[in-house]
Amino acid sequence: MIDHCATSELMPFEQALSTMLLSITPIAEYEKVTLAAALDRVLAFDIISPVNVPPYNNSAMDGYAFSHSERESADTGGSGTFKLAGRSMAGSPFSGKCAVGECIRIMTGARLPDDCDTVVMQENCLIEGDDIQIEQVVVKGNNVRVLGEDIRINQDVFKHGRQLSSADIGILASLGIAQVKVYRRLNVAIFSTGDELKLPSESLASGDIYESNSHFIANILQRLNINVINLGIIADDKEAIEQAFIKADEMADAVISSGGVSVGDADFTKEVLAQLGDIGFWKIAMKPGKPFAFGKLKNSLFFGLPGNPVSALVTAHQLVIPALLKLQSAEIKQAVMLKVKTSVDLRKSKGRMDFQRGILDRNQSGELEVCSTGSQGSGVLTSIVTANCYIVLPAEQGHVSIGEYVNVQLFDKYLQ
Ligand code: AMP
Ligand code: MG
Repeated sequence: MIDHCATSELMPFEQALSTMLLSITPIAEYEKVTLAAALDRVLAFDIISPVNVPPYNNSAMDGYAFSHSERESADTGGSGTFKLAGRSMAGSPFSGKCAVGECIRIMTGARLPDDCDTVVMQENCLIEGDDIQIEQVVVKGNNVRVLGEDIRINQDVFKHGRQLSSADIGILASLGIAQVKVYRRLNVAIFSTGDELKLPSESLASGDIYESNSHFIANILQRLNINVINLGIIADDKEAIEQAFIKADEMADAVISSGGVSVGDADFTKEVLAQLGDIGFWKIAMKPGKPFAFGKLKNSLFFGLPGNPVSALVTAHQLVIPALLKLQSAEIKQAVMLKVKTSVDLRKSKGRMDFQRGILDRNQSGELEVCSTGSQGSGVLTSIVTANCYIVLPAEQGHVSIGEYVNVQLFDKYLQ
């Protein structure tokens, strides 16, 4: 693996992402789950519809069904007076015959009798006993939901690799499918390195801080439906870090550490990992970010995130999520990007791709525009919580002036 940290060269962000994705072999193991347990799981096989949806022609309205074709529709437009011949309710279809000049009382979702083709809504009818007078011109086929109009039998419904949404699960239920085969859940071990890190319940001595990275990393992983194995805080001690990596590698499909990937005196990650696996230490041309490790241990993938919380979060979001999606055989969706004007000047030095945190909103004229959340320091986590998007500025871009167009990437579910 190329050691981009050993040289002063920075690896372009897109190259880092594509190199990493190319080197990952997705898991193949799958299991069967019920629909109740299928949210966010990744389909292991294509879904082909076993039925038509809807399974029969039915009414989209409460009203009256009749045969438009059998009438002299050119003259009457389907209007006129009909004799009521029966009724069709949802779950209790009409089983008799509806002759020319007759109509059937029908409710929304009820089966349309085979000899009818049109429904008129009841608001457009005058009812006198069994005489139903249609007062308005009705177009043939109106208010009818046709067999298979949503999904046809044997139609491809979902491709494997799709991460099932709540609406997807509704579709599966409408096809009568009770269980689906999905890839197994990934196991991901996480830990944070740093002598200064303390748990929220502990008191801080001079020089300590509360640990935060493992909390948002664990939550992002849960949104990916991953089993998280949290190995806690590991001291800046070569032996302890080595033990943590060995333990994590035995238990997980991927290991994520944070901190200790820079070149400080207490940064042992690089050294330890050089012994244990095939690790590339990369300096990525991105801000926040830069030091980021990716590689392979004996059994698992390894991601070494920078310690600064904003850098850890942005690299987890931009690099680790696509990698874990690939590992769990899921489709990687392109992020939604917009081109909008900035309402403030944006400071930027050339050389790295910036993922500045921004707020996208409408101005007084109703146009979308973006502003920065303020301080963009890599330790300023509040720059993310007030944001709803990244302002993505290419590596070669310098300062941006108010009124210029910039690319904006909307935050997705992992950051909300
Ligand atoms: P490092 O990458 O270990 O040099 O850490 C860079 C900065 O991030 C230092 O200020 C650390 O104290 C801070 N840091 C490292 N790990 C964490 C963590 N898990 N939570 C919060 N801050 C951290
Ligand atoms: Mg450290």
